[in-house]
Amino acid sequence: MFFYKTLIKRYNPELLTENQNTNKNNKHKMNNIFDLVVIGGGHAGVEAALAGKRMGLHVALITLDENKTGRMSCNPAIGGIGKTHLAKEIDALGGFMAEATDLAGIQFRTLNKKKGPAVQATRAQTDKMLYEKTIQNKVNGAGIKVIEDEIIDFIQEDKDIKEATGKKDNYKAGAFVLTTGTFLNGAILIGNQKKDGGRIDEKKSAGLEKFFAKRELMVGRLKTGTPPRLDKETVNFSKMETQPGDEEEVFMSYLESKNPHPTQTCCHITQTNKKTHEIIRKNIEKSAMYSGLISGVGPRYCPSIEDKIMRFADKDSHQIFVEPEGLESNWIYPNGISTSLPEEVQAEYIRSINGFEEATILQQGYAVEYDYIDPRNLDKTLKLKDTNNLFLAGQINGTTGYEEAGAQGVVAGINAALKVKKEEKWTPLRQNSYMGVLVDDLTRFGVSEPYRMFTSRAEHRLLLRQDNADYRLFKEGVALGLIDSERQEAYRKKQEDKKEILRLLGNTKTKIGTQTKTAEELCKRNDVTETEVEALLDKTNKRFTEVYYDIRYSGYVEKQKRELAKMKNLEEHDLGLIFDYSEVVGLSGELVEKLNKNKPKNLYDASLMEGITPAALNVLTIHLKKIDAIRAG
Ligand code: FAD
Repeated sequence: MFFYKTLIKRYNPELLTENQNTNKNNKHKMNNIFDLVVIGGGHAGVEAALAGKRMGLHVALITLDENKTGRMSCNPAIGGIGKTHLAKEIDALGGFMAEATDLAGIQFRTLNKKKGPAVQATRAQTDKMLYEKTIQNKVNGAGIKVIEDEIIDFIQEDKDIKEATGKKDNYKAGAFVLTTGTFLNGAILIGNQKKDGGRIDEKKSAGLEKFFAKRELMVGRLKTGTPPRLDKETVNFSKMETQPGDEEEVFMSYLESKNPHPTQTCCHITQTNKKTHEIIRKNIEKSAMYSGLISGVGPRYCPSIEDKIMRFADKDSHQIFVEPEGLESNWIYPNGISTSLPEEVQAEYIRSINGFEEATILQQGYAVEYDYIDPRNLDKTLKLKDTNNLFLAGQINGTTGYEEAGAQGVVAGINAALKVKKEEKWTPLRQNSYMGVLVDDLTRFGVSEPYRMFTSRAEHRLLLRQDNADYRLFKEGVALGLIDSERQEAYRKKQEDKKEILRLLGNTKTKIGTQTKTAEELCKRNDVTETEVEALLDKTNKRFTEVYYDIRYSGYVEKQKRELAKMKNLEEHDLGLIFDYSEVVGLSGELVEKLNKNKPKNLYDASLMEGITPAALNVLTIHLKKIDAIRAG
């Protein structure tokens, strides 16, 4: 990680002068006054602006290129394990990502179908152009003022940010949300070539790093990458396995058929092989990642093909999902082979792959490196701690992914609006949502690599299913003024349908051996399947599966709720009096080291640390009792 001092050194003094001059010129041009100014038209910025609008504010969205608002920089797909939960929570709070996915989704698949519903996820391949146009229509239709400009600084008085300084004009507001994505000092890397840019063929943004450097905030560099895009006409799909979508119609948003899907299509699967690996290994030094050109850390869970081959040397083959970028588009996205190798090496290894023998590259794969702000500088509303009204959301906070960005956009947008309205702040709870897990993880632990959501990050995942996101967040959404009447009606109808199923399950009886059981009781038994229970009912509706799993897991859910109640008590056990954890008898050396380094405030904080077991918590509780006894004399 690079700290601010490193960054200051890296900056070009000429840039500083240029920006300062622009600031001076802007002073008398100022004529834009808003309630909320959102900077950046990516996934975080769009959700933040829409949340502000739903809460009744006059909102401006300032972005580098308005035609690229809502652009999917990498794979045009929404959802995946953990990510779908975030998309559905955005939806539950009235956000637009899930609806846009339904309107632009060209293939929907349920992942982990054979596993329990807590870890199932709907994944949608979208039409990239249709998705961004759908987002742009929504933003414009909502009455958000979209302005093309580059923000290079902020003007502040004490802890209040008063204005955002752009290259063209200045913008005044009661609160600001900053979402620079991969653009802040972005650099595009291909082989030994490095050029400025936030995405291929798009300029970087710069200047704001000085604002952060002045405040002595921790900032750093991260990187991510993307594969070469291929010409559909030159790909031989007949040599590949076909991957169709789900047969039944599935939706991302709980508004369901209000947002009909376009025509559906299928994806394909192929693999790398020994020859591909040989080509990459032979040229590894030419990769921007391996030549030392990149200093940022990349996402461990989304490695480049170079990384996969070097790190998993024993594997002869890696899967590639061959995904269309749109119904009318000629672009194919080969998912799984992001790279920063030079163009000629990309062409060589692509052609070694089954079905790609004749493939033409339409856009080279590349890596992008950018500045991020350590999210430990933020509080749990995503507000920069030493300001009253500047919120940060999305990739700038060290995350990766559209859903992670969108979810933060919602949290930041809501809290910025609450600030403007002088109302109490709102924090999503870890126990109640993946949004809560995301915000808590980021602000508490920071990141050492781009942060991606997984179901394994949530301790209470049985409570946090993708199908109950609306149920978990509905009341809060209504209280915050985020849920319009159409959504309220859809929610009410869904709950009614669920109650009807519950009633039928309770009233339907059947004999199992000599005993009479209700269908509701059968939901908990391992020897009766979901289909068999449903078949017992006189009538059913599409909420059957949700109700079935509500009942099936009710025992575990109750247990988790009891654990959660205990967790709340854990917050009351202050660890401030333990100065050196090596004095605590019964802790492993590793835990002593971690606890001494992190110094958790209380037992709840400690319980969230990696590697802390219930036994370790017990040891700490005993130690605290000893301290209390000594203090009591
Ligand atoms: P972005 O979508 O990057 O949007 C940032 C917005 O801010 C843009 O509209 C830009 O114009 C605007 N902006 C920036 N600076 C300024 C300024 N100073 N003034 C005004 N406007 C400004 N995610 C994955 O999950 N998996 C991947 O494999 C993956 N690979 C990626 C590969 C590449 C090459 C890139 C570029 C991104 C990749 N991503 C990947 C990340 C994904 O695109 C982002 O996580 C997501 O887009 C972040 O959303 P965001 O809103 O934070 O930022």
